Amino acid sequence: MPTVTIDGCKVEVDRDATVLDAAKKAGVWIPTLCYHSSVSITGACRICMVELDRGDWRQLITACNYPVRQDIVVYVSSERARKARCGIMELLLARSPESEELKALAEQMGVKGTPYPTVTESQRNCILCGLCVQVCEEIIGQAAISFAGRGVDKTVASPFRQASEDCIGCGACAAVCPVGTIKVRVHKDEREVEISPFKSRAKLLVCKNCGAPTVSIEVAEQALSRLDIDIEEFRQLMQFCPKCRRSQAAACLKSAVFDKKKNECAAG
Ligand code: SF4
Repeated sequence: MPTVTIDGCKVEVDRDATVLDAAKKAGVWIPTLCYHSSVSITGACRICMVELDRGDWRQLITACNYPVRQDIVVYVSSERARKARCGIMELLLARSPESEELKALAEQMGVKGTPYPTVTESQRNCILCGLCVQVCEEIIGQAAISFAGRGVDKTVASPFRQASEDCIGCGACAAVCPVGTIKVRVHKDEREVEISPFKSRAKLLVCKNCGAPTVSIEVAEQALSRLDIDIEEFRQLMQFCPKCRRSQAAACLKSAVFDKKKNECAAG
């Protein structure tokens, strides 16, 4: 197994593990934004830059996608690596100046703000990490969003920037967005869920008992098609929200206990 020496600390990792994996094993923190263990690694945001010692020179690499194939020496806290990461953070802050998640990470890294002008309103608050695009395609299988435009006009959008019919309103893109730009909005009156800023809307199932919205109809249908379960039982289950399901289960349990006690009294 190859050995990675990170800031003087030696760890052994499997061949082809990444420098980020090695750092985690060594207990060394490296900031990440576009990295997610569920999807393929792109190294798009560059916030995980570290220095790789190549003997007579040192190279800046991204820790999340650099495979370890031999013994290597890496510096996470060197001046050059730290400066590179802070520089990237300043650029990202210019793109997403209002993101609380990004500001918290910047503070953790010791970055106070950005010297760069913030981007225009239409591109605001997206750092173009692409995690939402990957999750929608690789995990959900919908590919309802993708990169659009070029250069400074590059954004993540639905086709023709219109509400996408492929969006099932699952909210997975919002769940992984590292800067909190994608939001799931529930419109109770219309019984719809909206994925902002993509303008996509999906119809929601509503609890038969309390009227609370549960999941989008398409998400329920996808779950049905993917799971090996009794369809009728699943349909019954999906008629109620988790809270009502729990209270119904509790009521059933209570009445079962009551019936058992009643029968015991009658018998004895
Ligand atoms: S909510 Fe829509 S855009 Fe987001 S991951 Fe699900 S299908 Fe894709």
